[in-house]
Amino acid sequence: MQDIPRLIIITGGVMSGLGKGVLSASLGHILRSKNYRIVPIKIDPYFNYDAGTLNPYEHGEVFVTDDGGEIDLDFGHYERFTGITTKKKWNITSGNIYKAVIDKERRGDFLGKTVQLIPHVTNEIKGRIFKIWEEERPDFLLIELGGTIGDIEGRVFVEALRQLKKDANCCYIHLTYVPIITGEQKTKPTQRSVEILRSYGISPNFIVCRCREFLQEKTKEKISLFCDVERERVISAPDVDVIYKVPLNLQKEGFGEKIESFFGLENRKCKLELEEYIEKVERSRVEKTIAIAGKYTSFSDAYISVVEAVKHAGAELGIKPKIRWICTDEFDDEGKEGELERILKGVDAVIVPGGFGKRGTEGKIKIIKYCRENNVPFLGLCLGFQLAVIEFARNVCNLKEANSTEFDPKTEHPVIDLMEEQKRIMQLGGTMRLGAQKAVLKEGSLVHKLYGKKVVWERHRHRYEVNPKYIEILEKNGLVFSGKSEDGLLMEFLELPGHKYFVATQAHPEFKSKPNKPAPLFLGLMKSCI
Ligand code: GLN
Repeated sequence: MQDIPRLIIITGGVMSGLGKGVLSASLGHILRSKNYRIVPIKIDPYFNYDAGTLNPYEHGEVFVTDDGGEIDLDFGHYERFTGITTKKKWNITSGNIYKAVIDKERRGDFLGKTVQLIPHVTNEIKGRIFKIWEEERPDFLLIELGGTIGDIEGRVFVEALRQLKKDANCCYIHLTYVPIITGEQKTKPTQRSVEILRSYGISPNFIVCRCREFLQEKTKEKISLFCDVERERVISAPDVDVIYKVPLNLQKEGFGEKIESFFGLENRKCKLELEEYIEKVERSRVEKTIAIAGKYTSFSDAYISVVEAVKHAGAELGIKPKIRWICTDEFDDEGKEGELERILKGVDAVIVPGGFGKRGTEGKIKIIKYCRENNVPFLGLCLGFQLAVIEFARNVCNLKEANSTEFDPKTEHPVIDLMEEQKRIMQLGGTMRLGAQKAVLKEGSLVHKLYGKKVVWERHRHRYEVNPKYIEILEKNGLVFSGKSEDGLLMEFLELPGHKYFVATQAHPEFKSKPNKPAPLFLGLMKSCI
């Protein structure tokens, strides 16, 4: 067993959005395909304790882990590319680091000392990383630092990552951008970014260059010369139409073997599982339009796991899905029903995903009503499930004022409400019903058939529940709750018999969908539109 951790440390330069997360996940995929055990860590320099209180507009989706973490969406990439189940403590933030340091100071751990960024904060960061290594003992820790080199916020993390060299076997990978101006691949931004990194005491061992195309030999030579990295260790990361092609491209340049050689390991053979998935995607011909009705639609990262789940299911069935975003707040008020109907006539299926707050909910309810009445395939996720219950209560059970107390605290018919234990909670961060929860499915139901088993565990992130007082009237009118918590008190899945596909769940099955292993409810939805 190795006693010194092997750390692969990924930083980003030039600008944000180059895909450090996808790079880390892709390298993870390659190493997993070589049968190495890996653990991904992501450092987010913001001061939120976790991603749970962030707005999806700014940071994209909040990813949920089995162990109830509300963490950065890059963990979605890590899980989808590597198949491993991540843990919440693998997401380090300034918020949780500084809180730990101050808690220690209050406890008296540093009595008599001036508590400082170096060494107290840097020690806390390094300590976390070593603790994860101790607990998991992987062959590699893949550490991604969020943000861009040069950001003030990330500075103390860069310092800690530099110090790690002393106690670990570190491979520093810097991801940069090579723009093409009048046909020429430009290396200056890469040179400048590496300069900043080196001024912090880190010389990258590999430079990965995001570019519109593969790097030319002369571009690699130039970067090698100016940035002090061997030419073979300058790697191309060309733009791709399907993100799962990234590991395939990296392997074209033997990235996995180069990493092994860097650490003095023998080169193992590997066959990338994602190749099979890419073949499926490229074989897919049947075009189908899937509407996603939400309020963060101008920023598609906000629903990234939902979109990925649609694609995974599509590839399995030879479907090429086209996403049609419907921004629901535009349809909250009366008067635009005609336009909404026109949009919905042009789609093959509808997904109403999760969300918080009142804005957009009336628009979503109209959409669900249309799907129910016109036999349009519908999948509701979390908030989408709750709104399907509200719509059914209003328009089928004739409870005209039915609503969730989240949107109308005084509603006459609170069909969606807080359970007693949630009412007692005062703090909003980290207190929802989170993580993997068990549900027991109804024998013979559609959901049961789709999962092919009676007990399922899906990830949750919600505060509100179907109010037990209304279950009888909803069921009497034909709504089937086809999955419940083990004690039967919490409604987990619903469906409408006789409809082409009308299924919703209180959970977020999108988080567990993977290439070659699509989530059953998404597969069911896509199947129903062929
Ligand atoms: N706002 C709802 C709740 O808290 C739904 C949450 C969600 O869709 N993730 O219960």
